[in-house]
Amino acid sequence: MRYVRDTVHGFRERLHYEGGELDAMFENAGVDFLKEKYGKAEYPISTDDLTMLIEKDVADLDQYADLSQYGEGVEGMTEFPRSGKPRVAISHTVHRHENRLRTTLSHEYGHVRLHAYLFALVDRQLRFGQNRKPNAIYCLRDAMLPAGKRDWMEWQAGYASGAALMPKTHVTISRADSGALRSLWRRGARISSRQKSNFGADGGVYRLARSCRGAP
Ligand SMILES: [Zn+2]
Repeated sequence: MRYVRDTVHGFRERLHYEGGELDAMFENAGVDFLKEKYGKAEYPISTDDLTMLIEKDVADLDQYADLSQYGEGVEGMTEFPRSGKPRVAISHTVHRHENRLRTTLSHEYGHVRLHAYLFALVDRQLRFGQNRKPNAIYCLRDAMLPAGKRDWMEWQAGYASGAALMPKTHVTISRADSGALRSLWRRGARISSRQKSNFGADGGVYRLARSCRGAP
């Protein structure tokens, strides 16, 4: 990582991370947490464990917040107080879909781990709209995944989300083991919704199996 000039949010400078650096940071965070709790690290990480991982680094995690006052489509918010740990709020609306909840939780975790320094260095002033606090990051549904690189802050949090949910080492192992699942799928085996959610949007293997057969 290295400091570069920030041309998007108005900070004097900000950290640039390579993807591999973010992969290592967020894989290690999850693996260390799971090993400490269970003596081993297995993926997919459960939503409860993901929640506990985040709670270690925040002063407060409100998972059922009403964020509508901050604008349409705001599903997550991370606030950086002048002192103490960040506070995270997740919109109650994302609980309808567990994968969306997991993506939002891990995205905000990315902000928590990656962006606190910006607010510690200066009396921070992001451009903000009506009702919005200048020391908080507001995340829209469409920005949860690292779709584009224009907004480096959202890209970094989106990448962190993927790295936390799909650690590169474990996804590689999963792909090596995915032949059995693919074979089952080809034979028309029914895959339960529980299995789907285990392999689901953040697991990758289910998508791999589905791609062999077309969408179910
Ligand atoms: Zn965000």
